[in-house]
Amino acid sequence: MPSPRPKDPLVELVSQPLVLHKSLAGLLAGGSSGEGWHQTMASWTCPEKMRQRILGTVNIYKEQPFDYDGTSLSPLAFGSLWHYLLEVQAHKKTKEQVLHALNSIQDIPDQSRQKMETLFLAYAQRYPKTTWKALGVECKIRVPIPVGRKVWRIDPKTGKGRFTEVFYSVRYDKVVIAPGSHKLVQAIEHKTASRMSPSTLSEWRMSGQVIGQKWAWDRHPASTRYGPIYQVVMDFAVKTQEPAFIREPLVIGKAQTFAFTQSLIDWVLTREHFEKAYGLDRPWPRTWACTDRYSSCPFVDSCHYDNSAALSKRVA
Ligand code: SF4
Repeated sequence: MPSPRPKDPLVELVSQPLVLHKSLAGLLAGGSSGEGWHQTMASWTCPEKMRQRILGTVNIYKEQPFDYDGTSLSPLAFGSLWHYLLEVQAHKKTKEQVLHALNSIQDIPDQSRQKMETLFLAYAQRYPKTTWKALGVECKIRVPIPVGRKVWRIDPKTGKGRFTEVFYSVRYDKVVIAPGSHKLVQAIEHKTASRMSPSTLSEWRMSGQVIGQKWAWDRHPASTRYGPIYQVVMDFAVKTQEPAFIREPLVIGKAQTFAFTQSLIDWVLTREHFEKAYGLDRPWPRTWACTDRYSSCPFVDSCHYDNSAALSKRVA
C-alpha cells in the first residue's frame, strides 16, 4: 500500500509566486528570510542590531540601495536585483522577457542597469540551457531550533512575553535535482562578486548561510521525500569588466552542521538573555562591533552620540 501523502504543504516545496516589480523599493522590500541567517548574523555581530531587527526598524536592503555617491547600486542592492532576474528567468522566461523585467524598474542608476544587462547576457550565453530539474524556486522552509525547551520571547507588537518554540527559516534560491542524477538534491545559491580568489571560496565554505541551507533541509519533511541535500552549489557571477562565472559545489560535513546547531542554540539563548534582562524598549548597544579596520557601523551616531532621541525615533 502506498504511504499516505504528507500533510505538510512545504513538503511539496511551494515556490514563491513570481512578483514583477516596477520600483527598486518594491524589489528590496522583500529582503531576507525573516528569522534566518541574516537575522542570526546581525545578532552575533551586535545585540542592538538584533533588537532593531526584532522591532523591524532596520532593513539593510531598503536602507542602503545606492553607493555613497548615488550613481550606482550598492553591492547588496545589485545582488538583490541579480537574484530577481534569475528568479524571473527560472519561471521559463526568455532572455528578452528578463531584460524587459529589468527595464521595467524605473529607479536603477544607468551605470548599474548597463552593468546588469551585460552581466545577464553573458550569463545567458555561458549557460544557454539549464540542466537543473527545479524542485522549488525561491522556496522557504522553517524548522525548529533544538534548544530542548521553550524559550522566552517578547512579541514586538504587543510587548508581552511568553515561552514559545523557536524556528530557523531558510529561503532557497533554487532546490534542484543534480544534473545527470535521479535523486541527488542540490541547493543553488546565486551570488555576485566583485572578484574571485581562493579566499572568497573558503569564506563561503564556512559560511553559516551555506551550512544552514543543508542543516534546515535535512531536518525538514522535504528531505524525507526528496533526500538530504548533497551539495550547496555557489553560482557566482563575477562583475569584472569581462564578466566571469563559476559554479562551485560545496559539500557540508557533519562537523560543520554540528557546530551550526550549537551556534544557533547559543544565539537563541543570548537573545533570550537580552529580552529577559532588558526588554525590547531599552536599547542594547555594546561596543565590540562598532568599528573594524575598514569601516564603522552605520548606527554609531544613533547608538553612542544622541542615544535616546535617535534610537527612540527609529523605534517609533
Ligand atoms: S553602533 Fe555599535 S552598538 Fe550600535 S548597532 Fe552598531 S555595532 Fe551595535
